[in-house]
Amino acid sequence: MKTLKIFDTDASVFTNEATVLTCEKSNKEGYEDCYEVITDSTIFAPEGGGQKCDEGFFGDVPVKDVQEIDGELIHFLENEIKAGTKVLQKIDYSLRFRRMQNHNAEHLICGLIHAKFGFDNVGFHLSETRNDDGSLESIEAIMDVDGPISAEDLKEIEMKANVAISENVPIYAILPSAEEAEKISYRSKLDITENLRLVIIDGYDVCACCAPCLDSSAQIQLVKIVDFFPHRGGMRLTLRAGIDAVKDYIALHDDNKNTMKILSCERGRCAEAAQRMNVKLIETNEETVSLKRQITVMLEKELKNTIRMQESAYIVYFADSIDEIQARTLINDNVKESEKVIIVLFEKNNDAYRFVAGKNENLTGISLKELAGKMRENLNARGGGSEQMIQGSVTCDIEKIKQFFDSL
Ligand SMILES: [Zn+2]
Repeated sequence: MKTLKIFDTDASVFTNEATVLTCEKSNKEGYEDCYEVITDSTIFAPEGGGQKCDEGFFGDVPVKDVQEIDGELIHFLENEIKAGTKVLQKIDYSLRFRRMQNHNAEHLICGLIHAKFGFDNVGFHLSETRNDDGSLESIEAIMDVDGPISAEDLKEIEMKANVAISENVPIYAILPSAEEAEKISYRSKLDITENLRLVIIDGYDVCACCAPCLDSSAQIQLVKIVDFFPHRGGMRLTLRAGIDAVKDYIALHDDNKNTMKILSCERGRCAEAAQRMNVKLIETNEETVSLKRQITVMLEKELKNTIRMQESAYIVYFADSIDEIQARTLINDNVKESEKVIIVLFEKNNDAYRFVAGKNENLTGISLKELAGKMRENLNARGGGSEQMIQGSVTCDIEKIKQFFDSL
């Protein structure tokens, strides 16, 4: 490696004057328009260890990507910068800081899980959500451990992690030699001792890691396990830490306040109140079903009388208080014994009605499809159906509807 990686031991440096060592046109797929720039030192952490590379500029030239390839740290830039040129590197420090908060929170949680259960971290990445303008909306840390942990134990781990944050213990990275590394007990996904970098949260965790780290646990601010579920024999945990945990808390608090208002309940009693409301809703639904049944029975009697009394082949029946299922039931129950077309109009809304019309299948000579066409022409109707049943809506006043069917 030709480059001094400043972030390895000091992640708080966000500007650096570096000298360009080499600058070559890239032939990496997707980067054909870019130059690969290697500098004598850098504050740009490459993509790796479950997170994306730092974002920023060389002077006013944006850095498109940073990768460690074949032991060299390569910056991808759209402009050529000649070897020997001095450049001012600047990184987006607020983005790095939020990533460090979430990443170090993951170290802390994993360290505590490892100490209590002996489980290892077998997967980790930072999931970022961006706004339309490319700015960062939120970060979540997603991590897998290789053993099961109960909800109660996770709560305890989460509390211990937040106590560790409040203790303001130092966080730092060391680059031990292979010989030194053998004497240190640390967590690692890979069995490496060469070019080892260890991130230490004093008293809580020692872990092989390549990403920039905070200076102290207090900078993590807060950690919350927002989701967890069994995954491949172990657990997948989603964490929010630092500013992202605070933003999440504020959003949930606002949501909770609105819910409290809707449910007319005190803080911390929403679930209880929602449960009570749910029971009431089930009871009300049962009552509604029973009332609807009674209404249908009454309407059926009335409709039967209407059918008997009216000479016309078209029985037009207005029933504002029923729904589509009831309208269909009324028609199905009456067309069997009737030689007439029954049209039920329901769900009045201003001058619009929904309708269902049906007839006995033995009643030939009247086409319901044709009727639907005439209704479209004369009553602003929409909809259609089969020869036995049509449905849709009409937008027309009641007198005109009656006149139309009288004229058929
Ligand atoms: Zn790490």
